[in-house]
Amino acid sequence: DETVKLPPVPAGSPPGPAPSRSASLEARDISAWFGDHKVLDRVSLTMPAQRVTALIGPSGCGKSTFLRILNRMHELIGTASLAGQVLLDGQDIYDRGRRITQARREIGMVFQKPNPFPAMSIYDNVLAGLKMNGIKAGRAERDDLVEECLTKAGLWREVADRLRQPGGALSGGQQQRLCIARSLAVRPRVLLMDEPCSALDPTSTRRIEQTIGELSDEVTIVIVTHNMQQAARVSHSCAFFLAEQGTPGVIVEHGPTETMFGNPQDERTSDYVNGRF
Ligand code: ADP
Ligand code: MG
Repeated sequence: DETVKLPPVPAGSPPGPAPSRSASLEARDISAWFGDHKVLDRVSLTMPAQRVTALIGPSGCGKSTFLRILNRMHELIGTASLAGQVLLDGQDIYDRGRRITQARREIGMVFQKPNPFPAMSIYDNVLAGLKMNGIKAGRAERDDLVEECLTKAGLWREVADRLRQPGGALSGGQQQRLCIARSLAVRPRVLLMDEPCSALDPTSTRRIEQTIGELSDEVTIVIVTHNMQQAARVSHSCAFFLAEQGTPGVIVEHGPTETMFGNPQDERTSDYVNGRF
């Protein structure tokens, strides 16, 4: 039974250099196949620390596959094969000797459909990743962690007096914020979000966008979204994925969000961000 100590809390607020655990994530020449079907072709992208990177592009161009490859999640679904490298702060998460569980702890993921454990209490939901990762924490530490993570996820005030209620009793937007809190509890360095607001109403969406803005100092964020206003609001940079008929997904263009929306260099980017396909 392995005991891992919680990494230190990224200490408080400015002034001074931000003591953040946020790390850069770099994909190098990622290609992926489902059987014979090649779905990504030599995709390279740097996702800098303390920044929000948005992945945009039509359905089926490989965004979710790419996201799963970024934390070895695709190994769970088993079917994809892969070439290329993923560097977390310069270290390849696929190196022999680097463990899959370490990659998943350092690089968290939030999905389109909120997936708290419905029968488990709100409190235990937040801490669920600790047990799975063999992280031990005392009672006081756990209480503090639950409050801290729910606060960061913008949910604390709504649930502080009912932490023992089941996660499944919350609204959809609250469940998604609970999932964000749960992913933060193991102190990831990167948070991957696959269309985190697609199943939510506009008010819940705005609250999660606000949370993303607040979190970006301490955790690198990569978000897939089909909502161009959302990409423009939350991201510092954007990558436009496209799979033109029968060809695997590639990044057509990437760059600062202002450029991608205001002055895209590729006509296909311009068409996409302006809703022309
Ligand atoms: P996006 O998230 O951009 O919509 P996906 O990464 O889900 O794209 O899918 C990219 C391509 O990979 C699609 O052609 C899709 O049909 C295929 N694909 C995705 N998941 C699987 C899977 N588990 N098995 C086989 N093909 C898959
Ligand atoms: Mg997808």
